[in-house]
Amino acid sequence: VKILVLNAGSSSIKFELFDMPAETIEVRGLMQRIGEKESHLGWKVGAEAKSIARHVPDHAAGLRLILDELGVGKGSVEIGAVGHRVVHGGEAFAETVLITPEVEQAIDKHAALAPLHNPPNLLGIRVARELLPGVPQVGVFDTAFHQTVPAHAYLYPLPYDLYTELGVRRYGFHGTSHKYVSERAAEMLGRPLAKTNVITCHLGNGASVTAVEGGKSVDTSMGLTPLEGLAMGTRSGDIDPAILPFLERVRGMKLADIDTMLNKKSGLLGLSGLSNDMRALLAAEAEGNARAKVALDVYAYRVKKYVGAYAAALGEVHAVVFTAGVGENSAPIRERILTGLAPLGIEIDRAKNAATIGVEADVATPASRTRVLVVPTREELAIARDTYRVAKPA
Ligand code: AMP
Repeated sequence: VKILVLNAGSSSIKFELFDMPAETIEVRGLMQRIGEKESHLGWKVGAEAKSIARHVPDHAAGLRLILDELGVGKGSVEIGAVGHRVVHGGEAFAETVLITPEVEQAIDKHAALAPLHNPPNLLGIRVARELLPGVPQVGVFDTAFHQTVPAHAYLYPLPYDLYTELGVRRYGFHGTSHKYVSERAAEMLGRPLAKTNVITCHLGNGASVTAVEGGKSVDTSMGLTPLEGLAMGTRSGDIDPAILPFLERVRGMKLADIDTMLNKKSGLLGLSGLSNDMRALLAAEAEGNARAKVALDVYAYRVKKYVGAYAAALGEVHAVVFTAGVGENSAPIRERILTGLAPLGIEIDRAKNAATIGVEADVATPASRTRVLVVPTREELAIARDTYRVAKPA
C-alpha cells in the first residue's frame, strides 16, 4: 500500500511516498515558493533527482503537480492513505486520528495557537481530500505526544483563568520526533519501553528537549508556542518576560515587532550577527570569531541546563538522546553540551562521539551510568506508520 506523507507549510509542501508495511521510501520531495513568480519542485526517486521550476499559484495546483509527477493522475500509482503533519492539536488530540469534518474544525479552532502552521496544514488536508476523494486522510499532531505531561509541568504560574478560558499552557512540539527517538533508544538499550527513562534532545533549526518516562512525555521545553526553551537558530527560547515591556518603554517597540525579533532575529543568529546555521558558526568560531563562540557557548549551556533539569525531573535517566540536524551531525556540539556532567553519571566518549555523524550509535564511555545515544529522527516514517495503522488501507 502506498502512503503519502504531507507536510504543508505557508508556501511549501514537503512530501514522501512510502510503500507499507515494507517502509520503503519510493519518492521524497519538496515544493517551495508556492504563489511566487517561479515556484520550485524538487524530488528524488531512488538516487535519481528531478526538478521543475514554474509558477504554481496555490497549494491545490502544487499538490496536483506533485500527484501528476508521482503518477497518481495517470492511474499508475494508487494512494492508500494520506498522512498529514499538523503542528497544533491543543488538548483535543493525544494521538493520531482519522480526519473527519470535526477534526478539521478542531484544527481550525487551534489556529489561534499556531497561526503560521495550522492554516497551511489544514489547507493541505482540504486540497488532498479534494484531489484524492475517498482516500482516508490521517492527522499526526506535533503536540500529541506531550499530552501526557502532568499539570505541574504544563501549567504556567499565571492567573488560572488564562488556562481555563484561553488554553494558555505548555503544549510542546516535535512530538513525533521525540516519540520516535525515545522508542528507538529503548530498543537500542535492549530495555522495555515502560521501564526506560530518556532525555531526548531534538536539535535542529528549531530545538527542544523532552523528559520521557516509560515511553511517556513528562516535560518538554517548548511551550504554548515553539518559542520557549532552548536558544535556537533564530528563536530566543527562554527570556525574562519583563524584557518585552522594557523594550516598549525604552525603544518604543511594538509587540508585533518584538514577536518578530524573538522568533526570527534572535537565538544563534541574533547573538552571532552572522548566521543561524550551526555549520557556519562552527567554522567562524574556528577562525577566531568571538561572537560566534559566545553564541555557541550560550546554545550549548542552555541544552546542558535542560539536561540537568530533566535529570532531576526523572530521577533515573537511562540515556540522553541526540537527534535532528545538529544533534545527529555535530559531534563538537554534543561534546560541549555534555562535558562536565560525569558527576551526574553522564560521560561522553570523545573518540566515539567524534566518529559518529548521522548514524545510530552509543557514544558514552563504558563507565557512563547514563548512555549517550545518537538516533537520526525519522518523522516522515513515523507519520507513515501511524497513518498505515490508523487508516488500515486495503
Ligand atoms: P534541521 O532543522 O533538523 O534540518 O537542522 C538544521 C541545523 O542542523 C542547521 O543549523 C545545520 O547547520 C545543522 N547541521 C546539519 N548538518 C550539520 C553538521 N554536519 N554539523 C553541524 N551542524 C549541522
